[in-house]
Amino acid sequence: MPRSTKLSTYRAKRDFTKTPEPGGKNKIPASPRLRFVIQKHDASRLHYDLRLELDGVFKSWAVTRGPSLDPRDKRLAVEVEDHPLDYGDFEGTIPKGQYGGGTVQLWDRGYWIPEGSKAPHEGLSDGDLKFTLEGKRLKGSWVLVRMKHDRMGGKRNNWLFIKHRDGHALNGNGDSILAEDRSIASGRTMAAIASGKGRGPTPFMQKEKRGADPSAIWDSRKGLAARERAAAKGPARKKARA
Ligand code: MN
Repeated sequence: MPRSTKLSTYRAKRDFTKTPEPGGKNKIPASPRLRFVIQKHDASRLHYDLRLELDGVFKSWAVTRGPSLDPRDKRLAVEVEDHPLDYGDFEGTIPKGQYGGGTVQLWDRGYWIPEGSKAPHEGLSDGDLKFTLEGKRLKGSWVLVRMKHDRMGGKRNNWLFIKHRDGHALNGNGDSILAEDRSIASGRTMAAIASGKGRGPTPFMQKEKRGADPSAIWDSRKGLAARERAAAKGPARKKARA
């Protein structure tokens, strides 16, 4: 599938004249290794977005209670639309009323390595994807397993995100990792990001020297969105909210 088709759902859900989220047009340098990011997202409900690079996009899951280091915990991970690779450097706030409105923090990032002999595409279509994470916070072996029966039937986008037993697993206290409330990219707390304070995140996908804007919070009078809005003919299209 061409990249534009893969990201059509991502783009259809968002109004880029109103959200500071990337539109996916920035060229991201290729990496010899597959990258991953986890974004802590304080939206209508707090969750953690797990994104695994594959074929030029991020395959994405919303982990509702966050990852657990205890292999006995099976964390619901709802598969969502593919995200552009430049999303992997996004930290800031999405305005209220927009899709996913709330604060986004870069909570973890690094590389992921598919495990076993199956190609990751096969693991995804089989609903059984085993991989190793080399992140700042999450390390070692993990699995995403697609649930056989969705309560609502049909779409089958519910998966479970589970830690495998290894030297990085914990017996009990699996949520202790979630106590980390600082961005791995900027050191900022959720509150600091929400108020646009502190230094901006150090980029990872875009290996440029200049850091991202620390005040990536919505201001209707400034920035790209305002310029695009000014350039747009007629009123902005209304988009559905999350
Ligand atoms: Mn999210």
